[in-house]
Amino acid sequence: MGSGRVRVRFAPSPTGIFHVGGARSALFNWLAALRAGGDFVLRIEDTDASRNRPEWTDGIISALDWLGISPGRYEGPVLQSSRADRHRAAAVRLREAGLAYYCDCTREALAERTGNAQHGYDGFCRDRGLEPGPGRALRFRTPDEGATTVRDLIRGTPEFPNDTIEDFVIARADGSAVFLLANVVDDLEMGITHVIRGEEHLSNTPKQQLLWAALGAEEPPVWAHVPVIVNEKRQKLSKRRDKVALESYRDEGYLPGAMKNYLMLLGWAPPGEDEIVPWETIESTFDLADVKPSPAFFDEKKLRAFNGEYIRALGVEEFIAAVQPWLAPPAAPWAADAFDADVFAAVAGLAQSRVSVLSEIVPMVDFLFLPEAPVDDAAWAKAMKPPAAELLADVHDLFGKVEWDAESLKTTLTELGERHGLKLAKAQAPVRVAVTGRTVGLPLFESLEVFGREATRRRLAAARERLAAG
Ligand code: GLU
Repeated sequence: MGSGRVRVRFAPSPTGIFHVGGARSALFNWLAALRAGGDFVLRIEDTDASRNRPEWTDGIISALDWLGISPGRYEGPVLQSSRADRHRAAAVRLREAGLAYYCDCTREALAERTGNAQHGYDGFCRDRGLEPGPGRALRFRTPDEGATTVRDLIRGTPEFPNDTIEDFVIARADGSAVFLLANVVDDLEMGITHVIRGEEHLSNTPKQQLLWAALGAEEPPVWAHVPVIVNEKRQKLSKRRDKVALESYRDEGYLPGAMKNYLMLLGWAPPGEDEIVPWETIESTFDLADVKPSPAFFDEKKLRAFNGEYIRALGVEEFIAAVQPWLAPPAAPWAADAFDADVFAAVAGLAQSRVSVLSEIVPMVDFLFLPEAPVDDAAWAKAMKPPAAELLADVHDLFGKVEWDAESLKTTLTELGERHGLKLAKAQAPVRVAVTGRTVGLPLFESLEVFGREATRRRLAAARERLAAG
């Protein structure tokens, strides 16, 4: 410590899916380190054995990688559990220095004394001189006077009167340290200079700052508590209510670039008017001091629109590469050998301008690779009204003779529609449903050109049969 080099850490607990809020904290840390030419440490806070699972840790590492925070580009991962002895030792040191004491108060006893008030611990055991023993937790003795002032890059200098900070537990009866202590011991020993984390930890901060001093730190870290993320009802984003798993966005076909750009806007904004900016601009302009403390609205619709823009900005080859995971089973409903890369390449550009998330490619192109039109019953009912049967019979006929290109197919159907007293849009509907199974999709005539004469006519015939049957 003391070298002046900035060291930050991202310290998730592997107790569940990787939350978009965690991803935003990770990015803010990453950029703070980058901007300062400092270090980023990944510390997995896996001390809650009952809630941790190794797959959650793997999920965090792979989600970070997806965002460009890749193994090898940071220090760690350090597993907090591997440092348990150091946490215990710190607890013992605090006790030996007279800064912590054993306490055997039960919750019930405390409630009885304090009239059930939730003001925290009343200091009953402070001077009882208890020795360690079963049922005895170790509490940190907080000062009675003065105030603890936190220096927070986003929130200014909130002040916490010390008489409102209870003597809090730092170690359980079995000697193991609780989160508040383990987190500080690690930050201190790892030389962390800036603690950038979610606002929900602000209330822990005065306690933790007292621990920094008690453990001998010359000065506390610089704190930065990033704003809470809320949904459209201004409720804190929650696992149960909202779509918060970064993985689910990845699986749906959000591009990491769009996701990163969007996450950066949750509390921060690039200079200028544009919100969609190259990552290099973000890297060269991000500053924690510009982060706003007010709640940040996670707007899924806006994220989707962002993603659409990022998709459209790709070269068509890049789009084809990006969409590959959705073009084979299990994401795709067709057999692996039914897929034809050339056929797909022929419609890729048309699809690229129409999808907002990559998974939308599947219902757009499935008709090309499935043995039969994937008929949507509602679409069928809507499109197959009279004179659909006669029209399909004529189309089947004419499509056997015309030049097979989008332009001729369009002219043919336009003229045919007129003969049946139908505008092109109405004449198209039964043909589209017969061939693609749906009422919406890629431009019809270009699709038919790619799909081919024989395949198209087979589907037209099948639709006629179905209509005749009933
Ligand atoms: N493990 C804590 C959490 O996931 C991290 C707290 C911190 O960043 O200090 O909330």
